[in-house]
Amino acid sequence: MTTIFTKIISGEIPSEKVFENEKIIAIKDIHPKAPIHILIIPKKPIHDLQSLQKEDFHLLGEIVTAAQEIAKKFHVENGYRLVTNNGLKAGQTIFHLHFHFLAGDKMRDLP
Ligand code: 5GP
Repeated sequence: MTTIFTKIISGEIPSEKVFENEKIIAIKDIHPKAPIHILIIPKKPIHDLQSLQKEDFHLLGEIVTAAQEIAKKFHVENGYRLVTNNGLKAGQTIFHLHFHFLAGDKMRDLP
């Protein structure tokens, strides 16, 4: 299924990239809910966490690696949150697996 993230990954829709390798792209969220709000997205289109197959579990490691790199880049190694919304009831709006990397001054107030 094509989503806005497919178009961002292909470059059809512009984005502010903060990290990229063969498997992963990370971009600034267009509507940040924290001073630092980055979306870490596997390039492979996977609907959500619940449908992630064992053969793709290595992508979770890639996502963690990206989060660690981003934490260093933004100097927030001591305080960040990494979350995914799985499904409509959890607030997922884009059905291409992604993790929210959230950091900044107001961590206690973040969802
Ligand atoms: P979800 O609600 O699916 O967990 O997260 C989707 C996120 O994508 C939201 O935080 C939303 O602000 C972000 N988003 C939606 N459209 C765009 C876009 O075109 N560009 C960027 N950079 N982020 C987007």
